[in-house]
Amino acid sequence: MNEVKTASTLAMLGGGQLGRFFVQAAQNLGYKVTVLDPDPDSPAGKIADHHICKKYDDQEALLSLAKTCQAASTEFENIPAASLKYLEKHITVRPGSHAVSIVQNRILEKSFLRENFFPVGDFAIITLEKDIQSLDSSIFPAILKIAQYGYDGKGQIHVNNIKELKDAFSKFNFSPCVLEKKMNLDTEVSVVLARSVENKKVFYPIIENKHVNGILDTSMVPASIDEDLSKQAITIADKLSSALEYIGVMAVEFFVSNGAIYVNEIAPRPHNSGHFSIDACRHNQFDQQVRSLVNLPLADTSIHAKAIMVNLIGDVWIQEGKVINPPFTEITNENTIVHIYGKKEPRPGRKMGHFTVIGKNLTDIKDLVDAARAKLSKR
Ligand code: ADP
Ligand code: MG
Repeated sequence: MNEVKTASTLAMLGGGQLGRFFVQAAQNLGYKVTVLDPDPDSPAGKIADHHICKKYDDQEALLSLAKTCQAASTEFENIPAASLKYLEKHITVRPGSHAVSIVQNRILEKSFLRENFFPVGDFAIITLEKDIQSLDSSIFPAILKIAQYGYDGKGQIHVNNIKELKDAFSKFNFSPCVLEKKMNLDTEVSVVLARSVENKKVFYPIIENKHVNGILDTSMVPASIDEDLSKQAITIADKLSSALEYIGVMAVEFFVSNGAIYVNEIAPRPHNSGHFSIDACRHNQFDQQVRSLVNLPLADTSIHAKAIMVNLIGDVWIQEGKVINPPFTEITNENTIVHIYGKKEPRPGRKMGHFTVIGKNLTDIKDLVDAARAKLSKR
């Protein structure tokens, strides 16, 4: 497989923070990047060599990418699979439309997992009101999740019985959904991996994740789960990437419940929980995304430090109803690295940046995280 030569132009579909980190990694390796994102203020669009400010299914924009770029990747699972399919006719696209079309739809994703005997929690597919009548009540308490376009806990309603489920389904305008049994979680972990076209795979260490209000709050490496569970998580992620014929960087989110591991969902892209790799590894997940796209060898995934990543959501910027400039210089030190994504407007729950604390032991790292958080919440 020939590598795509430096000075070539890569296409990035999606202009969020993940796209921005991709642009930086690609430019560091000598590539130009064209970002497609309809938002004129998109974080990646601002630093890209070119920004096409059009929708993801705009035929002219896609044609222009096909003509001017040698390879394309995505940072956002809701890119229409049809757009990727169109680009695939002309240029290299990683991940491909087939894998993305499955994991961007919770119904297809969950069905794929069940059909291929991957461990998943109890769930039911709800596409019509009559699907609700035939449900076994043992599924409650449960979470109704819209099949497409949900993120950060959005598009999810907790339901305790048939009546609440009917109300929730109508709130979602009867859009196709999955209903998941609520699990008692011991913890949550994720695996970020990269797979090359030659079937080489590299795995970052298992990450342990804590969510607050459905949004990722912290990611810790190494995870505190035992070795056997870690091995199971890696094995499942490995098999999943093969089963999806996946090329590029992907992440698998897992639930650990009563000592057993279950797949929660798959992200066809680098993942928020993998941001520790920017500061705790020589090669981060975006570097691997570029490498797998242009056929450069995948790089080392080992950590040179332990790490906790903390998401900075819009709430940090909003104090007493006013937008403030949080004191990031005060929390920055040799162990604490702040990354701000350049989004124009902070909104509650919106991911605006993150910081990572690296160090030799997790106790000291946790103390630094607490100190940083205290400084940021001081009024
Ligand atoms: P998103 O696409 O927003 O990441 P997820 O399905 O991963 O959606 O849900 C977000 C978080 O909500 C999960 O990481 C977990 O903390 C919680 N959650 C989701 N589904 C379940 C479930 N079936 N049981 C228990 N907790 C859940
Ligand atoms: Mg998730």
